[in-house]
Amino acid sequence: MNLILRCLPLLVPYWRSAALMMVLILVNSALSLLAPWPFKFLIDYALADQPPPAWLTEWLGSDNFRTRLLYACAVTEVLIIFLHQLLMVAETYVSTRLEQCIDRDFRSRLFGHAMQLSLAYHENRRSGMMIYVINNQGDAVANLLMTLPSIIESIVMLVGMLIVLWTMHWSLAAVSFVVVPALFFASRYYATRMRERIGRTKELEGVALSVIHEAMSMMRVIVAFCRQPLEHRRYLDATQVSMNARLGVTIRQTLFSLVVTMSTGIGRAAAWTFGGLLALAGKLTVGDLTIVLSYIDKVYDPLETIAYTYSGWQDQFANLRAAFGLLDTKPDIADPPQPLRVARCTGRIEFRHVDFAYKGRTDTLKDVSFVAEPGQVTAIVGPTGAGKTTLVSLIPRFYDAAAGGVLLDGVDVKELGLDALRQQVSIVLQEPLLFSMSIRDNIRYGRLDATNAEIEAAARAANAHDFISRLPEGYGTMLGERGSRLSGGERQRIAVARAFLKDAPILILDEPTSAIDSKTEAVILDSLDRLMEGRTTFMIAHRLSTIRRADWILVVDQGRVVEQGRHDDLLAAAGLYKQLHELQNRQAERKAAARAIWSAT
Ligand code: ADP
Repeated sequence: MNLILRCLPLLVPYWRSAALMMVLILVNSALSLLAPWPFKFLIDYALADQPPPAWLTEWLGSDNFRTRLLYACAVTEVLIIFLHQLLMVAETYVSTRLEQCIDRDFRSRLFGHAMQLSLAYHENRRSGMMIYVINNQGDAVANLLMTLPSIIESIVMLVGMLIVLWTMHWSLAAVSFVVVPALFFASRYYATRMRERIGRTKELEGVALSVIHEAMSMMRVIVAFCRQPLEHRRYLDATQVSMNARLGVTIRQTLFSLVVTMSTGIGRAAAWTFGGLLALAGKLTVGDLTIVLSYIDKVYDPLETIAYTYSGWQDQFANLRAAFGLLDTKPDIADPPQPLRVARCTGRIEFRHVDFAYKGRTDTLKDVSFVAEPGQVTAIVGPTGAGKTTLVSLIPRFYDAAAGGVLLDGVDVKELGLDALRQQVSIVLQEPLLFSMSIRDNIRYGRLDATNAEIEAAARAANAHDFISRLPEGYGTMLGERGSRLSGGERQRIAVARAFLKDAPILILDEPTSAIDSKTEAVILDSLDRLMEGRTTFMIAHRLSTIRRADWILVVDQGRVVEQGRHDDLLAAAGLYKQLHELQNRQAERKAAARAIWSAT
């Protein structure tokens, strides 16, 4: 019941359509109550010898009464059917529109909420499951709300039929209702038994979708390792499990239908037998018997609808639990109650005794303290897994420090509005992530109101304009998913252009050139030098040669800042930095020697 109540507010914006639909449904129900009457008139007054009511003879005249009545009954029946169908068309239009609107609203609410959830939340879940909830389970609200009218209609019909039947022949009505308790208990039993099973089946279907989603996003690796058959098998296995679960649900649903249909069948048979006996004993005319029996038939229609709808709701309830479960997940990184806003910060960053650990890990960062003055370039070096990326991720609040504080211009980042904070930070990652849209729109992602001239200027600054202009469709060139159809270096230059356009006072460069050949690296480093000007920059660098411009160097090892200072001072200190430096020098010497051998031979 709670779940249904939570769905109702979605109807509020469309209450007019909902009211119109209810009126159409009620009028239609009334029309279908009228439908058997011409038939009764036909049998009793045109074919049998029952005396017709006075208004009827007055209306049709006594000449040729039976033939006229026959035509009148036929015409009336056609009119009733026509009107009924006309209203059905209107009802279908209004209800489909209402359903689509509610569906769109709820799914977009789910998607909007999923976008608000933290990176940590998304990293801990398979994105295929999220797609399944939004796409396959998000229609539950609309589905459920759209069954409400048919339930209300069925209840109204049931009550209407009951009253009519009771006044016409109470004992026959009572006989036809002996099956109601059986239906009630069968529905309750079904609902409680099926809840968990349906929920599990949906989860398994979500898992199968996740396999497809993961495979599609890992296509390069799959092709490179020729693992198409393995992925195919993984998908087949997942679908086999979900198929078995779905079969289990379907067979139970069918058995439930059997119980419902059998119960109403027994009820019908009981009413026919009892009604037939009454007619044989002369206590009921044949016309009255047909009309009573047709009403009893119509009593079972809504009864069956109620039973089936209630059982169908179990499916929707499982979907609703998953969808509301997503909506109820509070973003663990959210705006503070009174967020502070800044138009443009100066860019002074301070870490004060910051501790952080990922879920299930310990001490990813421990007691990290340093200051980066506005416009200063801070290089972060250290072995892989030391915590460099994690450290810079705390600045735009991708994660929150567990202890200590990250301060921007002297204010803890947790006190700033998330939008305002992230507006201050541009990030260029090792693997540039681009959207499957045009190059122009990808650059515009940095600032949505940028003009074409500004986009071009950003591309020039990022050394990207020349290669973009050489493409047949220039800035209008459409990229594939994740920016495929461009080389790594080209993608990175577009990402740099995007950062130029954003023009944020803080810049985070997370090994932006480590996946790029040294010739392209020089072009990108040149554009990055321009990008860094006047911005507080954090530069995670694998190759120490790329950080010569750094004003300050943080050396991170196992989550701690083990050394910090200027290049020369750190070399003189003869610590980890010096070791890393010497290691890279040796590697560079080995490479040069190898090259020399190749060129000599
Ligand atoms: P670096 O950038 O120095 O290579 P990271 O900051 O990426 O290192 O990672 C630091 C540590 O945190 C590593 O031990 C890594 O395994 C772990 N880690 C990174 N990301 C996650 C995550 N999303 N969930 C759990 N642990 C993570």
